[in-house]
Formats: sequence, structure tokens, C-alpha cells
Amino acid sequence: ATPTAVMVGTGLGAEHGILIKGGESLEKAYRLTTVVFDKTGTLTRGEPEVTDIEPAEGIAPEKVLSTALSLEALSEHPLAQAIVNRGKAGGLVPLPAEKFEALSGLGTRAVIEGKSCLLGNLRLMIQEGMALSGMDRQASERAAQGKTCVLVAEEGRVIGLIALSDVPRESAKAAVAELKAAGLRVAMITGDNVSTGQAIGRQLGIDEVLAEVLPGDKAQEIRRLQQEGQIVAMVGDGINDAPALTSADIGIAIGAGTDVAIEASDITLMTGDLQAVPRAIRLSFETMKVIR
Ligand code: ADP
Ligand code: MG
Repeated sequence: ATPTAVMVGTGLGAEHGILIKGGESLEKAYRLTTVVFDKTGTLTRGEPEVTDIEPAEGIAPEKVLSTALSLEALSEHPLAQAIVNRGKAGGLVPLPAEKFEALSGLGTRAVIEGKSCLLGNLRLMIQEGMALSGMDRQASERAAQGKTCVLVAEEGRVIGLIALSDVPRESAKAAVAELKAAGLRVAMITGDNVSTGQAIGRQLGIDEVLAEVLPGDKAQEIRRLQQEGQIVAMVGDGINDAPALTSADIGIAIGAGTDVAIEASDITLMTGDLQAVPRAIRLSFETMKVIR
């Protein structure tokens, strides 16, 4: 690539809120085959809200929310923030929690009023041998609607679930359509449940959904696609996404994201407008065409 053409390309990008770090990423955009989007905070706004609280039989809804609030008050997860907001809006205060543990990609654990409590996805409940109290069926119904379900357990059994919804960004569907029209393969990667991921995928026109991927395994999934011969762009926003952004041939951080994600990426989109993704790719492509 001639330095001048690259400079023109990066300059044009900046005018459209697309920051391109160097010439090397432009070079790869020319051969791109696949775009992988992180779900939470990238395809979706990353502002989940509690939609329903479903207690197990014989449990008061208040009890489910209170236990969840006490556990999540100590967590930094975006889902935790939503649960805390809901609890506080309901006039509840978190109870002191001891031995708090954040379980990456799964949930949280603590002892509250002498009772061992666990909160997180179905996988965690099964892994820890919790009695499901029929709440797994309730969870799959909501997951099929694209909601994220958080189960709450106390002393070995699930006492209820909290469903949350995180709305897709307005630009997501059009961005996906544009990439597909350009002949690119589009996939979603998420730590969330398979049916939740697939439901969101259906809304946005993404059929390839890599779900229940633990934060530490996202980079490995990108490398697996590369081993298949794909040239991969990864679009992400969070701290969890940094290794995957680095592994990808082109890492694209969205501007609303964390500094860590921006640091790990080749291209940064200044806004949350996902249509900047096809724009950035097209720009890179055009720049390289001029050079060749
Ligand atoms: P994503 O890949 O969508 O950004 P994460 O890897 O952070 O998601 O989390 C994956 C799943 O783990 C969540 O969908 C949720 O079910 C569960 N989880 C992890 N931490 C928490 C928490 N603090 N509160 C509730 N659920 C959690
Ligand atoms: Mg994310």
C-alpha cells in the first residue's frame, strides 16, 4: 500500500467517524470473508432491563428480587446493574453478602444471612447441581423470545428467575443486510444462551450464532474460523472482547465501548451506529483498489 493512498483512506474514514489505526488493517479488509459481531453491547444497546420476575412455587417474588439484588450489588456485570436498578426502584436494599465470587460468563455466588446463594445462567445451575424447580422450562420460553434469563438459587434449589431484555441497536439489522449483500458471512458471538442468541439473530438476519461462549474462549472461536480459511473481522465493545479483537484479522471497536476494546482494535467507530461497519469495510476496500 502506498502511504499516500492509505492516508487518503484514513482521512476519509475520520470524516465519517471511522478511526483507522494503520495501513495494515486496510490491506486485510480487501480479502475479508466473515464479520463476527459480539451480541451484548454491540448488536444490542447493552442497556438490559428487567422485564419479568417469576418465583418458583411457594416463593414470594419479592424474595427472588431481594436475593438477586444482594448478590448483584457486588457485581460489575451489565445484567447486575439492571437487576440492582429494579430492586432499588422496588424500595429494596441489598442485604450484606459474604464470600462474594464473580463467576466469569456464568454468574455470581455469595452467602447471605448464612445461606449459600447462587445467581446466573442455566448452565451454572446445572453445573452446581441446583434443583431446577421447573424453572428451566420457564427460562427456555423466555429465551425463545430473545430475553436473557437469570436464575436465582438458595440452599441448593432455584427459587425463581429474572428475565431481562436488551434491545438491538436501530442500525443493526441494516448493517447486517448490507454486509450480507456484499457477499460476507455474518455471525454473532455471545456468552448468552443458545435460544436467546438465536432469537436475536433471527430479528437481525444473522443465522450463524456462536452461543454460550465463555469470555476466555471468544478468541479461540475466532481462530477456529481462521483455520477454516476465513479472513475475519470482529466487532466488539467490551473488556471481554479484547482478546477476540486482537485475534481477528481486523478488530473493530464500537465507540460506546471500553478503552480496553478500543486499544485492542484496528478500527474504532466513533458512534454506536453499526452501519459504520460496512462503511469502514467499503472504505478500506476502495482504498486498496486505488492502490492496486
Ligand atoms: P456476553 O458475551 O453476552 O457479553 P457474558 O459472557 O458477560 O455475556 O455473560 C454470559 C452469561 O453469563 C450472561 O448472559 C448471564 O447469563 C451470565 N452472567 C454472567 N455474569 C452474570 C451476572 N453478574 N449476573 C447475571 N448473569 C450473569
Ligand atoms: Mg459485549
